[in-house]
Amino acid sequence: MTAPQIVWLRRDLRLADHPAFHTAAQAGPVIPVYVLDDDAAGDHAIGGAARWWLHHSLESLSRSLARRHSRIVLRRGDAVRELAKLVEETGAEAVHALRHYEPWWRKAQGKLAQRIDLRLYDGNYLMPPGAVTTNGGDPYKIYTPFAKAVLDHMPPRECLPEPDVLHSPDRWPDSDDLGEWELLPTRPDWAGEIAAFWQVGEAAAHERLEEWSGDVARYADARNLPSQDGSSRLSPHLHWGEISPARVWHRLDGRRGEGWATYARELIWRDYAQNVICQFPGYASESYRDGYSGLWRNPHRGHLIAEELQAWQRGRTGYPIVDAGMRQLWQTGWMHNRVRMVAASFLVKHLLIDWRHGEGWFWDCLVDADFANNAVNWQWVAGTGVDSNMFVRIMAPLSQSEKFDAAGYIREYVPELADLPDDQIHDPPDDCRGDYPVKIIGHREARERALSAYRAAKEEG
Ligand code: FAD
Repeated sequence: MTAPQIVWLRRDLRLADHPAFHTAAQAGPVIPVYVLDDDAAGDHAIGGAARWWLHHSLESLSRSLARRHSRIVLRRGDAVRELAKLVEETGAEAVHALRHYEPWWRKAQGKLAQRIDLRLYDGNYLMPPGAVTTNGGDPYKIYTPFAKAVLDHMPPRECLPEPDVLHSPDRWPDSDDLGEWELLPTRPDWAGEIAAFWQVGEAAAHERLEEWSGDVARYADARNLPSQDGSSRLSPHLHWGEISPARVWHRLDGRRGEGWATYARELIWRDYAQNVICQFPGYASESYRDGYSGLWRNPHRGHLIAEELQAWQRGRTGYPIVDAGMRQLWQTGWMHNRVRMVAASFLVKHLLIDWRHGEGWFWDCLVDADFANNAVNWQWVAGTGVDSNMFVRIMAPLSQSEKFDAAGYIREYVPELADLPDDQIHDPPDDCRGDYPVKIIGHREARERALSAYRAAKEEG
């Protein structure tokens, strides 16, 4: 009997265009394995909303595997130990996996390779980090030249088909029961609206790509309008690897024009973020630039500031676009990109609260919470990043709301303002607010406070 091949799945919960599955299936019987390793990632263990997604994505993959008379083996604990144990139990020849770049996965990959035959493949990015370098041979730190270099190598490799057949091993190793992992919320079950908003799994990712593919032509403008369904909403599918970026690229690539060119650059941001965390593994917890530590008002120190953080988290700042975004996040596990920028900027600059509190909240609430994308974007907005917006560029939430026509979006997520006319909804007069809170701080006051705090921090630093 041929020795089985283990496929170690992480954020690559798909069958199509999966080089590890593809190669393992050609080599012998396949044992797909997912290990829930909550300790490896420290304070970046999978967050609440993402756990909800993971449950459904594993369920969906199990169904696809069952149609091929295969299954997924679930184990919980230290991934390196569990996989080494499984190799011993099953007599597997090798463990095949896609490369992942979160610092804890790089460590685990290194350790596992010392114990067993680990075969790693590229497949979750357009190009693996490090594949393009500056003329001096260094990894890029700045997005624009990085994107140009990646574009020079596009299109990405051809996509692989789903494995035709998956042979089963003689004996399946024991598996945990998915339900016993308790990835779904129960007391209370806050996921009802998230469930109504999303279809999870590989088939759903492909359906969404098909449904949206006709809209890429209008993406350049529509992506900034939160009241419209103008972006692809593929981020959780891409994060969980239910679809590969190469597949997305090849599906949309034929549609030349500004919409596609803009979309391609956004997909490259995703590669860029991996490139950054490979160079700076502590990026989600340390500002890249010095001199900012004295700038933030720390919520631990003052009751008032903790209340302000809570008002932001709950969507009760008195700024309708910010609150609509924060409520969309809570209800659906996702937030429109333009509004993510406005809401993040509001926390960091209007409230002068350390970006790490925002990063942590997003980490717990987003179904697409991604170690690299989240940290890179938070540091971009905060002005602390390796390539970032300057701190002194302070987004004005009220004019952003008007400029990007957020009235419909506000009506949807802040229903207490739904009856206000368009010319009032972005900045409701105090006597028309009803139960909706007054502004937590005036825009001009916040702007001046942020700029003088910045100047003071610079002088001290
Ligand atoms: P589209 O506009 O359709 O873009 C297509 C794909 O490109 C996205 O699915 C995503 O994979 C990638 N992409 C687009 N914009 C970016 C970007 N700025 N950075 C990196 N990749 C991008 N994205 C995440 O996937 N996970 C996160 O945890 C995350 N946190 C963020 C935090 C902040 C403060 C901000 C400002 C942005 C964050 N983003 C994050 C980036 C972006 O907001 C989302 O990727 C996007 O809103 C997802 O919606 P979409 O799939 O419709 O995107």
